[in-house]
Amino acid sequence: MKTPKFTYHAPRTVAEALDLLAEHDADGKVLAGGQSLIPVMAMRLASPAHLVDINHLTDELGGLHVDAEGAHVGALVRHSRLESDAATARAVPLVGQALRHVAHPTIRNRGTTVGSLAHADPSAEMPTVLTLLGGHVVARSVRGERAIEAADFFVGPMESCLAYDELAVSALFPAPVGRFGTAFDEITRRHGDYALCGAGVVATLDEAEQLTSLKVSLVSISDLPEVIDLTDLVQGTAYDEVDHDVVAQRVRDVVDPAADIHASADFRRHLAFVLTRRLTREAAERALAASPDAADASAPSPRTAGAPS
Ligand SMILES: Cc1cc2nc3c(=O)[nH]c(=O)nc-3n(C[C@H](O)[C@H](O)[C@H](O)COP(=O)(O)OP(=O)(O)OC[C@H]3O[C@@H](n4cnc5c(N)ncnc54)[C@H](O)[C@@H]3O)c2cc1C
Repeated sequence: MKTPKFTYHAPRTVAEALDLLAEHDADGKVLAGGQSLIPVMAMRLASPAHLVDINHLTDELGGLHVDAEGAHVGALVRHSRLESDAATARAVPLVGQALRHVAHPTIRNRGTTVGSLAHADPSAEMPTVLTLLGGHVVARSVRGERAIEAADFFVGPMESCLAYDELAVSALFPAPVGRFGTAFDEITRRHGDYALCGAGVVATLDEAEQLTSLKVSLVSISDLPEVIDLTDLVQGTAYDEVDHDVVAQRVRDVVDPAADIHASADFRRHLAFVLTRRLTREAAERALAASPDAADASAPSPRTAGAPS
């Protein structure tokens, strides 16, 4: 099916884009990579009268830089660029570990990571990653700019808290602090499909190789990305003495997935268990491989709301 008719706008500055979004309000939509919006329009699940294409705004929205806070990702950074960025891989390895599971390379070449956050699909990897890392999205409108914490950004399946006139200009994926390890994996029917269940894990160790924190967040399990804090089960335990069955059982107990045509709720619960058991071990082992000096590293500087340079 073809998309319904719409008026196409190609602003040359962010200011112009913001004026257009303010003018058309609920009738307008941002067009980024188009990898979700165009299929949704073709299926007649959305029919915006005005599309505001931001693809000409690379100078203002194409920035990607990594500092002590983490990776600042501009709205026009494609998944593939972020996935292959060496500085991001060093500072926030979870980002690349998850991005390689997003669709296929051709889609990652066009789709934007910030667009994926704005789309707020509970089956998408990057909302889970942003939430697990405690990141934020920077939104701008003619009314001003605000940084929205991940915990507040996602408000429902396919629904963010962005107002109609707001453009997400960037997102911050914070670098975990201290001696950390991360892991991400998912189960799909076919390579590149949306996950039946996915999981990301962040583990931190102290100099004595004992766990100081362990957190998990799941994909395709709940309407909103949530962090499951498992720290109380492992704090002070040597990295190689953690009972990963107990840890994974906690996750199985707390999740409440829905059944759909792809998987039953019980099967999804089982996948959450299996992935957690494997990935908590992997993350702890990666934390061990990280330099013990990292455990003494001071916390990153406070977050700024500015768009990446
Ligand atoms: C076959 C196929 C398989 C896929 N598989 C996966 C998968 O496994 N995992 C996954 O996560 N994704 C998957 N995707 C989606 C893909 O990752 C998209 O690229 C991504 O979800 C949206 O990014 P986009 O830049 O294409 O956004 P668009 O499609 O342009 O926009 C999506 C939505 O976000 C809004 N939006 C986009 N950018 C902004 C912004 N800067 N500010 C405000 N609103 C904005 C748009 O208005 C629209 O509502 C798949 C897509 C396809 C076609």
